[in-house]
Amino acid sequence: MGQPVGPGPSAPGALPGPGPEAEEAPARDGRYRSVSLWLHGLEEPLLPRSPLPGDTQVDVAVVGAGFTGLWTAYYLGALEPGLRVAVLEAEIAGFGASGRNGGWCSALFAASWASVARAAARGAGGPGYRAGTSVGRPPGAGAEAGRPEALAMQRAMVGAVDEVERFCRDEGVDARLTRGGTLSLARSPAQLTRLRREMEEDSRWGVDVRWLEPGQVADRVRASRVLGATWRPDCAALDPARLVRGLARVVEGKGVAVYEQTRALRLAPGRVETDRGLVRAEVVVRATEGYTPRLPGMRRALIPVYSLMVATEPLPPEVWKELGWEGRETLTDGRHLLIYAQRTGDGRIAFGGRGAPYHAGSGVHPSFDRDPATFAALEAALADLFPPAAGAAITHRWGGPLGVPRDWFPSVGLERSSGMAWAGGYVGDGVATTNLAGRTLADLILGRDTDLVHLPWVGHRSPPWEPEPLRWVGVNAGRWLARSADAAESRTGRPARRAALLSRLTGG
Ligand SMILES: Cc1cc2nc3c(=O)[nH]c(=O)nc-3n(C[C@H](O)[C@H](O)[C@H](O)COP(=O)(O)OP(=O)(O)OC[C@H]3O[C@@H](n4cnc5c(N)ncnc54)[C@H](O)[C@@H]3O)c2cc1C
Repeated sequence: MGQPVGPGPSAPGALPGPGPEAEEAPARDGRYRSVSLWLHGLEEPLLPRSPLPGDTQVDVAVVGAGFTGLWTAYYLGALEPGLRVAVLEAEIAGFGASGRNGGWCSALFAASWASVARAAARGAGGPGYRAGTSVGRPPGAGAEAGRPEALAMQRAMVGAVDEVERFCRDEGVDARLTRGGTLSLARSPAQLTRLRREMEEDSRWGVDVRWLEPGQVADRVRASRVLGATWRPDCAALDPARLVRGLARVVEGKGVAVYEQTRALRLAPGRVETDRGLVRAEVVVRATEGYTPRLPGMRRALIPVYSLMVATEPLPPEVWKELGWEGRETLTDGRHLLIYAQRTGDGRIAFGGRGAPYHAGSGVHPSFDRDPATFAALEAALADLFPPAAGAAITHRWGGPLGVPRDWFPSVGLERSSGMAWAGGYVGDGVATTNLAGRTLADLILGRDTDLVHLPWVGHRSPPWEPEPLRWVGVNAGRWLARSADAAESRTGRPARRAALLSRLTGG
Protein backbone atom coordinates (compact mmCIF):
# COMPACT_ATOMS: atom_id res chain seq x y z
CA MET A 1 0.00 0.00 0.00
CA GLY A 2 1.30 3.47 -0.84
CA GLN A 3 2.06 6.21 1.63
CA PRO A 4 -0.27 9.19 1.79
CA VAL A 5 0.86 11.77 -0.73
CA GLY A 6 1.94 14.79 1.27
CA PRO A 7 2.65 18.35 0.23
CA GLY A 8 4.76 18.33 -2.89
CA PRO A 9 6.15 20.69 -5.49
CA SER A 10 3.88 22.01 -8.18
CA ALA A 11 4.92 25.13 -9.97
CA PRO A 12 8.24 25.45 -11.72
CA GLY A 13 10.28 27.92 -9.71
CA ALA A 14 7.94 27.81 -6.75
CA LEU A 15 9.35 24.84 -4.89
CA PRO A 16 9.51 25.04 -1.14
CA GLY A 17 12.71 24.01 0.64
CA PRO A 18 16.33 24.18 -0.45
CA GLY A 19 17.40 24.79 -4.04
CA PRO A 20 17.87 21.75 -6.30
CA GLU A 21 21.68 21.64 -5.92
CA ALA A 22 21.56 21.73 -2.11
CA GLU A 23 19.00 18.96 -1.81
CA GLU A 24 20.04 15.37 -1.06
CA ALA A 25 19.00 12.79 -3.66
CA PRO A 26 16.59 10.85 -1.38
CA ALA A 27 14.80 14.06 -0.36
CA ARG A 28 14.44 15.10 -3.97
CA ASP A 29 13.21 11.65 -4.99
CA GLY A 30 10.64 11.83 -2.18
CA ARG A 31 9.44 15.27 -3.21
CA TYR A 32 8.80 14.22 -6.80
CA ARG A 33 7.26 10.94 -5.71
CA SER A 34 4.79 12.88 -3.52
CA VAL A 35 3.33 14.66 -6.57
CA SER A 36 0.83 11.91 -7.49
CA LEU A 37 -0.19 8.27 -7.00
CA TRP A 38 1.37 7.52 -10.39
CA LEU A 39 4.79 9.06 -9.72
CA HIS A 40 4.73 7.53 -6.25
CA GLY A 41 4.28 4.05 -7.71
CA LEU A 42 7.25 4.09 -10.11
CA GLU A 43 10.08 1.65 -9.47
CA GLU A 44 12.72 3.94 -11.02
CA PRO A 45 14.48 6.56 -8.87
CA LEU A 46 13.03 10.01 -9.54
CA LEU A 47 16.32 11.85 -9.89
CA PRO A 48 16.59 14.67 -12.40
CA ARG A 49 18.57 14.28 -15.59
CA SER A 50 21.42 16.78 -16.11
CA PRO A 51 20.49 20.39 -16.67
CA LEU A 52 21.46 22.40 -19.74
CA PRO A 53 25.28 22.67 -19.55
CA GLY A 54 25.34 26.30 -20.80
CA ASP A 55 24.71 28.28 -23.99
CA THR A 56 23.75 25.92 -26.84
CA GLN A 57 22.61 25.94 -30.45
CA VAL A 58 20.02 23.42 -31.72
CA ASP A 59 17.50 23.17 -34.56
CA VAL A 60 14.41 22.85 -32.34
CA ALA A 61 14.05 23.87 -28.68
CA VAL A 62 11.02 22.39 -26.91
CA VAL A 63 9.99 23.98 -23.60
CA GLY A 64 8.23 21.52 -21.28
CA ALA A 65 8.72 17.76 -20.87
CA GLY A 66 5.11 16.70 -20.51
CA PHE A 67 3.29 14.70 -23.16
CA THR A 68 3.15 17.63 -25.63
CA GLY A 69 6.86 18.37 -25.59
CA LEU A 70 7.93 14.73 -25.52
CA TRP A 71 5.58 13.51 -28.27
CA THR A 72 6.84 16.39 -30.45
CA ALA A 73 10.46 15.39 -29.78
CA TYR A 74 9.63 11.70 -30.36
CA TYR A 75 8.16 12.25 -33.84
CA LEU A 76 10.88 14.76 -34.82
CA GLY A 77 13.50 12.20 -33.78
CA ALA A 78 11.73 9.42 -35.65
CA LEU A 79 11.15 11.41 -38.88
CA GLU A 80 14.52 13.17 -39.05
CA PRO A 81 17.16 11.43 -36.94
CA GLY A 82 19.90 14.03 -37.65
CA LEU A 83 17.86 16.97 -36.34
CA ARG A 84 19.25 18.61 -33.17
CA VAL A 85 16.35 18.75 -30.69
CA ALA A 86 16.58 19.86 -27.04
CA VAL A 87 13.76 19.50 -24.51
CA LEU A 88 14.00 21.95 -21.59
CA GLU A 89 12.14 21.06 -18.40
CA ALA A 90 11.98 23.12 -15.19
CA GLU A 91 11.53 20.06 -12.95
CA ILE A 92 11.53 16.47 -14.23
CA ALA A 93 9.78 14.83 -17.18
CA GLY A 94 6.15 14.22 -16.23
CA PHE A 95 6.14 16.71 -13.37
CA GLY A 96 3.09 18.59 -14.74
CA ALA A 97 -0.39 17.36 -15.60
CA SER A 98 1.10 14.51 -17.64
CA GLY A 99 2.33 12.75 -14.49
CA ARG A 100 -0.79 13.46 -12.44
CA ASN A 101 -3.89 12.96 -14.59
CA GLY A 102 -6.83 10.55 -14.51
CA GLY A 103 -5.28 8.28 -17.15
CA TRP A 104 -8.14 8.48 -19.64
CA CYS A 105 -6.53 8.14 -23.05
CA SER A 106 -9.62 9.06 -25.01
CA ALA A 107 -10.84 10.35 -28.36
CA LEU A 108 -12.68 13.16 -26.54
CA PHE A 109 -11.83 16.64 -27.81
CA ALA A 110 -12.45 19.62 -25.52
CA ALA A 111 -14.41 21.70 -28.07
CA SER A 112 -17.80 20.49 -29.31
CA TRP A 113 -17.82 19.00 -32.83
CA ALA A 114 -20.26 21.70 -33.92
CA SER A 115 -17.80 24.40 -32.86
CA VAL A 116 -14.95 22.56 -34.59
CA ALA A 117 -17.08 22.51 -37.76
CA ARG A 118 -17.91 26.21 -37.39
CA ALA A 119 -14.22 27.05 -36.97
CA ALA A 120 -13.40 24.99 -40.05
CA ALA A 121 -16.14 26.72 -42.03
CA ARG A 122 -14.75 30.12 -41.03
CA GLY A 123 -11.18 29.47 -41.98
CA ALA A 124 -10.76 26.02 -43.53
CA GLY A 125 -8.01 25.06 -41.02
CA GLY A 126 -4.44 24.49 -42.11
CA PRO A 127 -1.16 26.13 -41.16
CA GLY A 128 -2.15 29.68 -42.16
CA TYR A 129 -5.61 29.62 -40.66
CA ARG A 130 -6.67 32.17 -38.04
CA ALA A 131 -9.95 31.63 -36.24
CA GLY A 132 -12.05 34.66 -35.50
CA THR A 133 -11.09 36.50 -38.69
CA SER A 134 -13.34 36.82 -41.69
CA VAL A 135 -10.59 35.82 -44.14
CA GLY A 136 -11.75 32.91 -46.26
CA ARG A 137 -15.17 32.78 -44.61
CA PRO A 138 -17.91 31.81 -47.05
CA PRO A 139 -21.04 33.90 -46.58
CA GLY A 140 -23.42 32.30 -44.11
CA ALA A 141 -20.96 29.51 -43.28
CA GLY A 142 -22.07 27.41 -40.31
CA ALA A 143 -21.50 24.03 -38.78
CA GLU A 144 -22.69 22.09 -41.85
CA ALA A 145 -20.12 23.76 -44.11
CA GLY A 146 -17.30 22.55 -41.88
CA ARG A 147 -18.69 19.06 -41.38
CA PRO A 148 -16.04 17.16 -43.41
CA GLU A 149 -13.22 18.83 -41.44
CA ALA A 150 -14.92 18.11 -38.09
CA LEU A 151 -15.35 14.46 -39.10
CA ALA A 152 -11.66 14.33 -40.08
CA MET A 153 -10.73 15.77 -36.69
CA GLN A 154 -12.90 13.19 -34.95
CA ARG A 155 -11.20 10.36 -36.86
CA ALA A 156 -7.80 11.84 -36.04
CA MET A 157 -8.67 11.72 -32.31
CA VAL A 158 -9.57 8.02 -32.57
CA GLY A 159 -6.28 7.57 -34.44
CA ALA A 160 -4.43 9.21 -31.55
CA VAL A 161 -5.76 6.60 -29.10
CA ASP A 162 -4.63 3.87 -31.55
CA GLU A 163 -1.22 5.52 -31.87
CA VAL A 164 -0.62 5.71 -28.09
CA GLU A 165 -1.46 2.00 -27.93
CA ARG A 166 0.92 1.27 -30.82
CA PHE A 167 3.69 3.31 -29.18
CA CYS A 168 3.43 1.36 -25.92
CA ARG A 169 3.48 -1.96 -27.77
CA ASP A 170 6.28 -1.19 -30.25
CA GLU A 171 8.54 0.80 -27.91
CA GLY A 172 8.16 -1.57 -24.96
CA VAL A 173 6.55 0.95 -22.58
CA ASP A 174 4.30 -0.77 -20.06
CA ALA A 175 1.75 1.94 -19.18
CA ARG A 176 -0.71 -0.59 -17.75
CA LEU A 177 -3.00 0.28 -20.66
CA THR A 178 -6.39 -1.41 -21.15
CA ARG A 179 -8.74 -0.27 -23.90
CA GLY A 180 -12.09 -0.82 -22.23
CA GLY A 181 -13.89 2.24 -23.60
CA THR A 182 -15.58 4.88 -21.47
CA LEU A 183 -18.89 4.84 -19.61
CA SER A 184 -21.02 7.90 -18.75
CA LEU A 185 -23.60 6.83 -16.20
CA ALA A 186 -27.06 8.41 -15.93
CA ARG A 187 -27.88 8.44 -12.21
CA SER A 188 -30.94 10.73 -12.20
CA PRO A 189 -33.72 11.47 -14.70
CA ALA A 190 -32.06 14.82 -15.49
CA GLN A 191 -28.77 13.10 -16.27
CA LEU A 192 -30.57 10.53 -18.39
CA THR A 193 -32.19 13.24 -20.53
CA ARG A 194 -28.88 15.05 -20.93
CA LEU A 195 -26.80 11.96 -21.81
CA ARG A 196 -29.34 10.78 -24.38
CA ARG A 197 -29.29 14.22 -26.01
CA GLU A 198 -25.47 14.27 -26.00
CA MET A 199 -25.42 10.80 -27.53
CA GLU A 200 -27.69 11.89 -30.38
CA GLU A 201 -25.51 14.93 -31.02
CA ASP A 202 -22.27 12.90 -30.93
CA SER A 203 -23.72 10.26 -33.28
CA ARG A 204 -24.49 13.03 -35.77
CA TRP A 205 -20.76 13.81 -35.79
CA GLY A 206 -19.67 10.26 -36.44
CA VAL A 207 -18.74 9.34 -32.87
CA ASP A 208 -19.11 5.65 -32.07
CA VAL A 209 -21.37 5.80 -28.99
CA ARG A 210 -23.94 3.27 -27.76
CA TRP A 211 -26.71 3.28 -25.17
CA LEU A 212 -26.60 0.67 -22.39
CA GLU A 213 -29.63 -0.27 -20.27
CA PRO A 214 -29.07 -0.66 -16.49
CA GLY A 215 -28.61 -4.46 -16.78
CA GLN A 216 -25.99 -4.03 -19.51
CA VAL A 217 -24.16 -1.48 -17.36
CA ALA A 218 -24.21 -3.90 -14.42
CA ASP A 219 -22.57 -6.54 -16.64
CA ARG A 220 -19.61 -4.16 -16.80
CA VAL A 221 -19.62 -2.31 -13.47
CA ARG A 222 -22.01 -2.18 -10.54
CA ALA A 223 -22.45 1.44 -9.39
CA SER A 224 -25.35 2.94 -7.43
CA ARG A 225 -28.62 4.36 -8.87
CA VAL A 226 -27.77 3.67 -12.52
CA LEU A 227 -30.63 4.39 -14.96
CA GLY A 228 -28.58 3.76 -18.10
CA ALA A 229 -25.29 4.83 -19.64
CA THR A 230 -23.50 5.72 -22.82
CA TRP A 231 -20.44 3.69 -23.81
CA ARG A 232 -17.79 4.79 -26.27
CA PRO A 233 -15.14 2.24 -27.31
CA ASP A 234 -12.38 4.75 -28.07
CA CYS A 235 -10.79 5.17 -24.67
CA ALA A 236 -8.06 3.34 -22.75
CA ALA A 237 -7.26 3.49 -19.04
CA LEU A 238 -3.55 3.86 -18.36
CA ASP A 239 -0.95 4.90 -15.80
CA PRO A 240 0.15 8.32 -17.07
CA ALA A 241 3.47 8.45 -15.19
CA ARG A 242 4.56 5.13 -16.68
CA LEU A 243 3.67 6.51 -20.11
CA VAL A 244 5.36 9.91 -19.76
CA ARG A 245 8.51 8.58 -18.09
CA GLY A 246 8.75 5.74 -20.62
CA LEU A 247 8.26 8.26 -23.43
CA ALA A 248 11.13 10.40 -22.08
CA ARG A 249 13.45 7.35 -22.11
CA VAL A 250 12.44 6.44 -25.68
CA VAL A 251 12.94 10.05 -26.80
CA GLU A 252 16.48 10.09 -25.38
CA GLY A 253 17.13 6.82 -27.18
CA LYS A 254 16.32 8.65 -30.43
CA GLY A 255 19.16 11.10 -29.79
CA VAL A 256 17.10 13.95 -28.32
CA ALA A 257 18.66 15.84 -25.40
CA VAL A 258 16.31 16.12 -22.41
CA TYR A 259 17.57 18.74 -19.94
CA GLU A 260 15.80 18.77 -16.57
CA GLN A 261 16.06 21.38 -13.78
CA THR A 262 16.25 23.94 -16.59
CA ARG A 263 13.65 26.67 -16.47
CA ALA A 264 12.83 28.82 -19.49
CA LEU A 265 12.58 32.46 -18.42
CA ARG A 266 11.69 33.93 -21.80
CA LEU A 267 10.73 32.52 -25.21
CA ALA A 268 11.45 34.64 -28.29
CA PRO A 269 11.99 34.01 -32.01
CA GLY A 270 15.25 32.08 -32.39
CA ARG A 271 16.02 31.89 -28.65
CA VAL A 272 15.03 30.55 -25.26
CA GLU A 273 16.58 32.25 -22.24
CA THR A 274 16.85 29.79 -19.35
CA ASP A 275 18.25 29.89 -15.83
CA ARG A 276 21.08 27.64 -17.16
CA GLY A 277 22.04 29.53 -20.30
CA LEU A 278 20.79 30.65 -23.71
CA VAL A 279 19.45 28.18 -26.28
CA ARG A 280 19.46 29.38 -29.88
CA ALA A 281 17.08 27.49 -32.16
CA GLU A 282 15.37 27.91 -35.51
CA VAL A 283 12.09 26.72 -34.00
CA VAL A 284 10.92 27.25 -30.41
CA VAL A 285 8.02 25.07 -29.20
CA ARG A 286 5.93 26.15 -26.21
CA ALA A 287 4.58 23.04 -24.45
CA THR A 288 3.88 24.45 -20.98
CA GLU A 289 0.05 24.06 -20.76
CA GLY A 290 -1.26 25.07 -17.29
CA TYR A 291 2.02 26.83 -16.45
CA THR A 292 1.86 29.05 -19.56
CA PRO A 293 0.49 32.16 -17.75
CA ARG A 294 3.78 32.34 -15.82
CA LEU A 295 5.73 33.12 -19.01
CA PRO A 296 6.24 36.80 -19.90
CA GLY A 297 3.46 38.07 -22.15
CA MET A 298 1.29 34.95 -21.73
CA ARG A 299 -0.76 35.84 -18.65
CA ARG A 300 -4.12 35.83 -20.46
CA ALA A 301 -3.43 33.04 -23.00
CA LEU A 302 -4.71 30.13 -20.88
CA ILE A 303 -5.98 29.79 -17.34
CA PRO A 304 -4.72 27.09 -14.98
CA VAL A 305 -7.71 25.10 -13.71
CA TYR A 306 -6.98 22.69 -10.89
CA SER A 307 -8.28 19.15 -11.17
CA LEU A 308 -7.88 17.08 -8.00
CA MET A 309 -7.75 13.32 -7.42
CA VAL A 310 -7.89 10.72 -4.66
CA ALA A 311 -7.07 6.99 -4.77
CA THR A 312 -8.08 4.09 -2.58
CA GLU A 313 -5.77 1.40 -1.31
CA PRO A 314 -5.74 -1.71 -3.56
CA LEU A 315 -9.19 -3.24 -3.02
CA PRO A 316 -9.52 -6.87 -1.93
CA PRO A 317 -10.89 -9.50 -4.38
CA GLU A 318 -14.29 -9.66 -2.61
CA VAL A 319 -14.88 -5.94 -3.24
CA TRP A 320 -13.90 -6.32 -6.90
CA LYS A 321 -16.28 -9.25 -7.13
CA GLU A 322 -19.11 -6.95 -6.05
CA LEU A 323 -18.05 -4.09 -8.32
CA GLY A 324 -17.15 -6.05 -11.45
CA TRP A 325 -15.34 -3.50 -13.65
CA GLU A 326 -13.13 -6.18 -15.19
CA GLY A 327 -12.91 -4.28 -18.50
CA ARG A 328 -11.33 -1.27 -16.73
CA GLU A 329 -13.69 1.12 -18.56
CA THR A 330 -13.00 4.73 -17.64
CA LEU A 331 -16.06 6.10 -15.91
CA THR A 332 -17.94 9.32 -15.27
CA ASP A 333 -21.58 10.30 -14.75
CA GLY A 334 -23.87 12.99 -16.10
CA ARG A 335 -23.39 15.61 -13.36
CA HIS A 336 -22.25 19.11 -14.30
CA LEU A 337 -19.25 19.37 -11.96
CA LEU A 338 -17.12 16.75 -13.69
CA ILE A 339 -15.94 13.59 -11.94
CA TYR A 340 -13.81 10.85 -13.55
CA ALA A 341 -12.62 7.45 -12.40
CA GLN A 342 -10.59 4.44 -13.42
CA ARG A 343 -9.83 1.02 -11.99
CA THR A 344 -6.04 1.17 -11.84
CA GLY A 345 -3.69 -1.53 -13.07
CA ASP A 346 -2.90 -2.39 -9.44
CA GLY A 347 -6.52 -2.68 -8.33
CA ARG A 348 -7.35 0.69 -6.79
CA ILE A 349 -10.02 3.21 -7.69
CA ALA A 350 -8.47 6.49 -8.83
CA PHE A 351 -11.15 9.16 -8.68
CA GLY A 352 -10.91 12.81 -9.72
CA GLY A 353 -12.98 15.89 -10.32
CA ARG A 354 -13.19 19.63 -10.74
CA GLY A 355 -14.39 22.15 -8.23
CA ALA A 356 -11.14 23.39 -6.68
CA PRO A 357 -10.88 27.18 -6.58
CA TYR A 358 -9.39 29.29 -9.37
CA HIS A 359 -6.77 31.64 -7.94
CA ALA A 360 -6.56 35.33 -8.88
CA GLY A 361 -4.01 36.27 -11.52
CA SER A 362 -4.00 32.69 -12.92
CA GLY A 363 -1.95 31.62 -9.90
CA VAL A 364 -0.06 28.30 -9.90
CA HIS A 365 1.41 27.20 -6.57
CA PRO A 366 2.17 23.90 -4.80
CA SER A 367 -0.42 24.66 -2.13
CA PHE A 368 -3.18 24.78 -4.80
CA ASP A 369 -2.64 21.05 -5.56
CA ARG A 370 -4.52 20.25 -2.38
CA ASP A 371 -7.91 21.55 -1.30
CA PRO A 372 -9.48 19.77 1.69
CA ALA A 373 -13.07 20.67 0.70
CA THR A 374 -12.59 19.28 -2.82
CA PHE A 375 -10.93 16.11 -1.50
CA ALA A 376 -13.83 15.60 0.93
CA ALA A 377 -16.36 16.04 -1.90
CA LEU A 378 -14.47 13.55 -4.09
CA GLU A 379 -14.28 10.97 -1.31
CA ALA A 380 -18.01 11.34 -0.66
CA ALA A 381 -18.79 10.98 -4.38
CA LEU A 382 -16.60 7.86 -4.63
CA ALA A 383 -18.35 6.23 -1.66
CA ASP A 384 -21.76 7.17 -3.06
CA LEU A 385 -21.04 5.71 -6.50
CA PHE A 386 -19.32 2.55 -5.26
CA PRO A 387 -20.80 1.58 -1.85
CA PRO A 388 -18.70 -1.64 -1.59
CA ALA A 389 -15.56 0.56 -1.69
CA ALA A 390 -16.86 3.08 0.86
CA GLY A 391 -14.79 1.65 3.70
CA ALA A 392 -11.51 1.55 1.76
CA ALA A 393 -8.66 3.71 2.97
CA ILE A 394 -7.81 6.71 0.81
CA THR A 395 -4.05 6.45 0.44
CA HIS A 396 -3.31 9.25 -2.04
CA ARG A 397 -4.61 12.77 -2.59
CA TRP A 398 -3.15 15.11 -5.20
CA GLY A 399 -3.94 17.52 -8.01
CA GLY A 400 -2.52 19.78 -10.64
CA PRO A 401 -3.19 22.51 -13.19
CA LEU A 402 -4.58 21.89 -16.64
CA GLY A 403 -4.82 24.60 -19.31
CA VAL A 404 -8.10 26.17 -20.43
CA PRO A 405 -8.29 28.64 -23.35
CA ARG A 406 -11.01 31.32 -23.37
CA ASP A 407 -13.06 29.48 -26.04
CA TRP A 408 -12.30 25.96 -24.69
CA PHE A 409 -10.76 25.18 -28.09
CA PRO A 410 -7.37 23.38 -28.08
CA SER A 411 -4.88 24.43 -30.71
CA VAL A 412 -1.54 23.62 -32.30
CA GLY A 413 0.50 25.72 -34.69
CA LEU A 414 3.73 27.10 -36.06
CA GLU A 415 4.13 30.73 -37.06
CA ARG A 416 6.48 30.31 -39.97
CA SER A 417 7.80 33.89 -39.99
CA SER A 418 9.02 33.75 -36.36
CA GLY A 419 9.61 30.02 -35.87
CA MET A 420 7.41 30.12 -32.74
CA ALA A 421 5.30 26.96 -32.29
CA TRP A 422 2.82 25.91 -29.63
CA ALA A 423 0.26 23.31 -28.65
CA GLY A 424 -2.16 23.18 -25.74
CA GLY A 425 -5.43 24.31 -24.24
CA TYR A 426 -6.64 20.71 -24.03
CA VAL A 427 -8.79 21.39 -20.92
CA GLY A 428 -9.15 17.90 -19.37
CA ASP A 429 -8.65 15.88 -22.55
CA GLY A 430 -4.92 15.99 -23.17
CA VAL A 431 -3.61 12.45 -22.91
CA ALA A 432 -4.43 11.44 -26.49
CA THR A 433 -4.75 14.98 -27.90
CA THR A 434 -1.10 15.72 -27.02
CA ASN A 435 -0.09 12.78 -29.21
CA LEU A 436 -1.97 14.28 -32.16
CA ALA A 437 -0.34 17.64 -31.31
CA GLY A 438 3.15 16.10 -31.28
CA ARG A 439 2.70 14.44 -34.67
CA THR A 440 1.19 17.63 -36.12
CA LEU A 441 3.99 19.85 -34.77
CA ALA A 442 6.62 17.49 -36.19
CA ASP A 443 4.96 17.70 -39.62
CA LEU A 444 4.64 21.49 -39.43
CA ILE A 445 8.27 21.93 -38.34
CA LEU A 446 9.60 19.59 -41.05
CA GLY A 447 7.36 21.22 -43.68
CA ARG A 448 5.49 17.97 -44.44
CA ASP A 449 2.17 18.58 -46.19
CA THR A 450 0.23 15.80 -44.46
CA ASP A 451 -3.48 15.51 -43.64
CA LEU A 452 -2.67 16.41 -40.04
CA VAL A 453 -1.52 19.96 -40.83
CA HIS A 454 -4.91 20.71 -42.42
CA LEU A 455 -7.06 19.73 -39.43
CA PRO A 456 -9.28 22.54 -38.14
CA TRP A 457 -7.44 23.06 -34.85
CA VAL A 458 -4.15 23.88 -36.63
CA GLY A 459 -3.39 27.58 -36.37
CA HIS A 460 -6.52 28.27 -34.32
CA ARG A 461 -6.06 31.33 -32.09
CA SER A 462 -8.19 31.53 -28.97
CA PRO A 463 -9.12 34.98 -27.71
CA PRO A 464 -7.36 36.16 -24.53
CA TRP A 465 -9.03 35.75 -21.14
CA GLU A 466 -10.52 38.85 -19.51
CA PRO A 467 -8.25 40.89 -17.23
CA GLU A 468 -8.62 40.44 -13.48
CA PRO A 469 -10.76 40.71 -11.42
CA LEU A 470 -13.31 39.80 -14.14
CA ARG A 471 -11.53 36.52 -14.84
CA TRP A 472 -11.63 35.48 -11.20
CA VAL A 473 -15.32 36.36 -10.87
CA GLY A 474 -16.31 34.56 -14.10
CA VAL A 475 -14.35 31.36 -13.50
CA ASN A 476 -15.42 30.97 -9.89
CA ALA A 477 -19.03 31.77 -10.85
CA GLY A 478 -18.83 28.86 -13.31
CA ARG A 479 -17.76 26.51 -10.48
CA TRP A 480 -20.61 27.74 -8.32
CA LEU A 481 -23.15 27.33 -11.15
CA ALA A 482 -22.06 23.74 -11.85
CA ARG A 483 -22.33 22.77 -8.19
CA SER A 484 -25.68 24.47 -7.71
CA ALA A 485 -27.13 22.99 -10.93
CA ASP A 486 -26.19 19.50 -9.65
CA ALA A 487 -27.82 20.22 -6.27
CA ALA A 488 -31.00 21.50 -7.99
CA GLU A 489 -31.17 18.42 -10.22
CA SER A 490 -30.82 16.00 -7.35
CA ARG A 491 -33.62 17.88 -5.49
CA THR A 492 -36.06 18.12 -8.39
CA GLY A 493 -34.97 15.30 -10.74
CA ARG A 494 -35.40 17.75 -13.63
CA PRO A 495 -32.66 19.35 -15.76
CA ALA A 496 -31.58 22.62 -14.10
CA ARG A 497 -32.27 25.68 -16.22
CA ARG A 498 -29.16 27.46 -14.93
CA ALA A 499 -27.13 24.75 -16.74
CA ALA A 500 -27.77 26.59 -20.02
CA LEU A 501 -25.82 29.55 -18.67
CA LEU A 502 -23.05 27.18 -17.61
CA SER A 503 -22.77 25.69 -21.05
CA ARG A 504 -22.46 29.23 -22.50
CA LEU A 505 -19.60 29.93 -20.04
CA THR A 506 -17.77 26.72 -20.98
CA GLY A 507 -18.17 27.16 -24.70
CA GLY A 508 -20.39 24.08 -24.93
C1 LIG B 1 -5.59 15.99 -12.15
C2 LIG B 1 -5.69 15.97 -13.66
C3 LIG B 1 -6.46 14.98 -14.28
C4 LIG B 1 -6.52 14.93 -15.67
N1 LIG B 1 -7.14 13.86 -16.25
C5 LIG B 1 -7.06 13.68 -17.58
C6 LIG B 1 -7.53 12.48 -18.18
O1 LIG B 1 -7.94 11.55 -17.51
N2 LIG B 1 -7.47 12.39 -19.54
C7 LIG B 1 -6.97 13.38 -20.32
O2 LIG B 1 -6.97 13.24 -21.55
N3 LIG B 1 -6.46 14.52 -19.77
C8 LIG B 1 -6.47 14.67 -18.43
N4 LIG B 1 -5.91 15.78 -17.85
C9 LIG B 1 -5.26 16.76 -18.73
C10 LIG B 1 -3.90 16.24 -19.23
O3 LIG B 1 -3.18 15.69 -18.17
C11 LIG B 1 -3.13 17.37 -19.87
O4 LIG B 1 -3.90 17.97 -20.89
C12 LIG B 1 -1.81 16.94 -20.50
O5 LIG B 1 -1.06 16.15 -19.61
C13 LIG B 1 -1.03 18.17 -20.93
O6 LIG B 1 0.28 17.78 -21.26
P1 LIG B 1 1.35 18.93 -21.53
O7 LIG B 1 2.62 18.27 -21.87
O8 LIG B 1 0.81 19.89 -22.53
O9 LIG B 1 1.43 19.73 -20.15
P2 LIG B 1 2.12 19.30 -18.77
O10 LIG B 1 2.08 17.85 -18.55
O11 LIG B 1 1.55 20.18 -17.70
O12 LIG B 1 3.64 19.65 -19.00
C14 LIG B 1 4.14 20.95 -18.99
C15 LIG B 1 5.59 20.85 -18.51
O13 LIG B 1 6.23 22.11 -18.72
C16 LIG B 1 7.08 22.35 -17.63
N5 LIG B 1 7.28 23.79 -17.59
C17 LIG B 1 6.36 24.74 -17.32
N6 LIG B 1 6.91 25.96 -17.41
C18 LIG B 1 8.21 25.78 -17.76
C19 LIG B 1 9.30 26.66 -18.00
N7 LIG B 1 9.17 27.97 -17.88
N8 LIG B 1 10.50 26.13 -18.36
C20 LIG B 1 10.66 24.77 -18.48
N9 LIG B 1 9.66 23.90 -18.24
C21 LIG B 1 8.45 24.40 -17.89
C22 LIG B 1 6.32 21.81 -16.44
O14 LIG B 1 7.18 21.52 -15.35
C23 LIG B 1 5.69 20.55 -17.02
O15 LIG B 1 6.50 19.41 -16.85
C24 LIG B 1 -5.85 15.91 -16.46
C25 LIG B 1 -5.11 16.92 -15.84
C26 LIG B 1 -5.03 16.96 -14.45
C27 LIG B 1 -4.20 18.04 -13.79
